[in-house]
Amino acid sequence: MTVRVLLLGGTTEARQLAAALVGDPRVHVVSSLAGRVRAPQLPEGEVRVGGFGGAEGLVCWVRAERIDAVVDATHAFARQITSVAVQACSEVGLPLLVLRRAEWLPGPGDDWRPVRSLPAAAALLPELGARVFLTTGRQEVATFAALNRLWFLVRSVDPPDPPVPARTQVLLDRGPFTVAGELALLREHRIDVLVTKNSGGAMTSAKLDAARRLGLPVVMVSRPPEPDIPQATTVAEAQRWVQALVRQRG
Ligand code: NAP
Repeated sequence: MTVRVLLLGGTTEARQLAAALVGDPRVHVVSSLAGRVRAPQLPEGEVRVGGFGGAEGLVCWVRAERIDAVVDATHAFARQITSVAVQACSEVGLPLLVLRRAEWLPGPGDDWRPVRSLPAAAALLPELGARVFLTTGRQEVATFAALNRLWFLVRSVDPPDPPVPARTQVLLDRGPFTVAGELALLREHRIDVLVTKNSGGAMTSAKLDAARRLGLPVVMVSRPPEPDIPQATTVAEAQRWVQALVRQRG
């Protein structure tokens, strides 16, 4: 019997898990992307794109597709889709696993300023410097739009949604990034402060090493609280969870 898994994606780990499961004849995996990025990096295997229409839509979709289990491997800050998945899986009675990479933790020499939200990050910035490297993604740059006295280097995969701060330079780029590259960028733009979400993972952590080496403060937006459901932090753990389901059903 094939176990049909819906894999909510949009992250490196989701692509890695899809690649790990796609060769297993006992598993049929369908990866789902929100469709936000213009040229997404597509996972291996079957892929669908676009929202489901909330929990109600997801309930209909998993029933129509005879899904047996859901792995939510979305980004730690994509909380709406996680709550949609929690509601839908509880209604249908489907097993749900959240796969989230581990958070970044501060080390010796780091000057992190933890905040709970992007508005809190915006409120803190004026006292930390005039030239800001903003790496929180393209969707909520508007939170910083009123900070007209500061200069922003905004790095995102696609152009940021307006409005953006008056003094903004946009850098379109996608990781992985290197420490040497990040050091050069911070120096070239005479950056005073870095703003980032606590996304975790190695793809974009070089900016933290670079900021430490230059003694720059990092405004670190903490993750929202996780729902109380089973959680994995590595692709291998999530793969074992799926394999255990396969054994149960077999
Ligand atoms: P979100 O606020 O949690 O989700 C908003 C809505 O978008 C959801 O309710 C759902 O629509 C749809 N959606 C989100 N992820 C989906 C998926 N994987 N498959 C199908 N529909 C999805 O999400 P977001 O913060 O906009 O992030 C969108 C995607 O980008 C996520 O898949 C996430 O993994 C990825 N991403 C996000 C961030 C970030 O910082 N937020 C960073 C890197 C990657 P319906 O309610 O209509 O189903």
